[in-house]
Amino acid sequence: MLVVMRDHATPEEIAHVVDRLHEAGAEAHLSQGEVKTVIGVIGERELIYSLELEGFPGVSEVIRVLKAYKLVSREFQAEDSVIRVGGSQVGGGVLAVMAGPCSIESGEQMHTVARAVKAAGGTFLRGGAYKPRTSPYEFQGMGLEGLKLLREAGDEAGLPVVTELLDVRDADRVAEWADVLQVGARNMQNFMMLQELGRMKRPVLLKRGMSAKLEEVLAAAEYILKGGNRDVILCERGIRTFETYTRNTLDLAGVAALKSLTHLPVIVDPSHATGRRDLIAPMCRAAIATGADGIMVEVHPDPERARCDGPQSLDIPAFAAMMEALRPLAALEGKSL
Ligand code: PEP
Ligand code: MN
Repeated sequence: MLVVMRDHATPEEIAHVVDRLHEAGAEAHLSQGEVKTVIGVIGERELIYSLELEGFPGVSEVIRVLKAYKLVSREFQAEDSVIRVGGSQVGGGVLAVMAGPCSIESGEQMHTVARAVKAAGGTFLRGGAYKPRTSPYEFQGMGLEGLKLLREAGDEAGLPVVTELLDVRDADRVAEWADVLQVGARNMQNFMMLQELGRMKRPVLLKRGMSAKLEEVLAAAEYILKGGNRDVILCERGIRTFETYTRNTLDLAGVAALKSLTHLPVIVDPSHATGRRDLIAPMCRAAIATGADGIMVEVHPDPERARCDGPQSLDIPAFAAMMEALRPLAALEGKSL
């Protein structure tokens, strides 16, 4: 249920509603805009309805929400969420650019990429230390050693770092080294992990599951917000369809739909969506035109020798050239790059 307060409702009126909700054993999540306050209510439906909050002073409207999500919805919060990490941000008037290799392979690789990402105007350094690989015989990532290399390279270049949390048991260790915790497509509905991330104080990059409907993406994000962590970034990374020419099918309509359904920022990962380096630049352009808040791109100093996802990685000159070409497009959409 959502309790929409009248414009400029007083702090006492808001506190009164919250107190009564707490008395009824419900959770009250506040969204406080400049003029409007909305209270997201989570608790036993019958008990909450019986409070008849419509009649309370300062209450404008009570909306009964039967969807699987409410805290992530535009009804709960009309304004876009902006997530700030170090000197970078996701959402608002900035195009976030998360770039780096699929997997962390060496200190030299990470330093080279980090400097190049920074020089080209990228805003986050990415790199996987724990890799979700289809086959157990493929490179699984450098683990803790990789996390340290990522951190060092990010610090040296002045970029916040994002990396995947593959196993909830590693949550504290990964959070110790990374600024943003990525939930990979394969873990989007790992509900225990989502609940744990809800309790943590790190922004989360939640990637869409490869066969997840938008409603399921939003419900997964809801788990994290419900736990108290509001810093969630959604990422469209392609879904499975009958088409096999591309690795996945990039659902840009889904990005536009998400932007209207949720206040959370939405970014696009054309590397995993297409699996092909020649399609990255066109899909970045399309993502920007669609209203995405950022892009995530795999960049490797020597893609031919990459231990993971080389064919969908840009080399450094191609990344720098793409960034130059994207700048005017971002400006057209009112975003700085
Ligand atoms: C990744 O970003 O490295 C990754 C494995 O992506 P996804 O979970 O979208 O497949
Ligand atoms: Mn990859």
